[in-house]
Amino acid sequence: SPDLKRAQALITTTPDFPEPGVQFRDISPMLADPEALRVVFDGLAAPFAGQFDLVAGIEARGFLIAGGLAAAAGTGMLAVRKAGKLPNPDVRVEYDLEYGSAVMEASGDLRGRQVLLVDDVLATGGTMRAAYDVIAELGGELVGSAVILELDGLGGRGRVPDCRTLFRM
Ligand code: IMP
Repeated sequence: SPDLKRAQALITTTPDFPEPGVQFRDISPMLADPEALRVVFDGLAAPFAGQFDLVAGIEARGFLIAGGLAAAAGTGMLAVRKAGKLPNPDVRVEYDLEYGSAVMEASGDLRGRQVLLVDDVLATGGTMRAAYDVIAELGGELVGSAVILELDGLGGRGRVPDCRTLFRM
């Protein structure tokens, strides 16, 4: 739609950040625009309407998205956190990065909950894949996952084939 095209055009690209050779995509200007935020959040949630009672967001921009979708749908939300932020996390999932590894943590009893998982950008898919494991280990049922932007050529699609994406670059 023209509204979604306009929203996508608000995503900025910064070359060589956070390291040389990487193109950093930023959805912040898109989120700052009232019309764009509305069409993007509506578009993300639409395929899952009525199917979830909890929205999980991945630190940090995923939190913004999860909060907005949860409030709009009348559900709860859950923060999937980077290591060291939570006292006594119930689950801890280690995953590979391009160089080295990272850890994701969360707490809560998700048994009986229908979870929609969201983040801003899908790159290699390692982060989203680890978050799937976090939700499963907390006992939640993942009914779907979605990102605003999928970066082509980094293998994310292979790691999380069912993840919905609004835009690709
Ligand atoms: P992945 O694990 O390689 O898929 O990386 C995805 C995670 O890194 C997400 O949480 C994104 O927020 C972040 N990320 C990776 N590339 C970008 C980017 O170009 N812009 C903003 N965030 C990014």
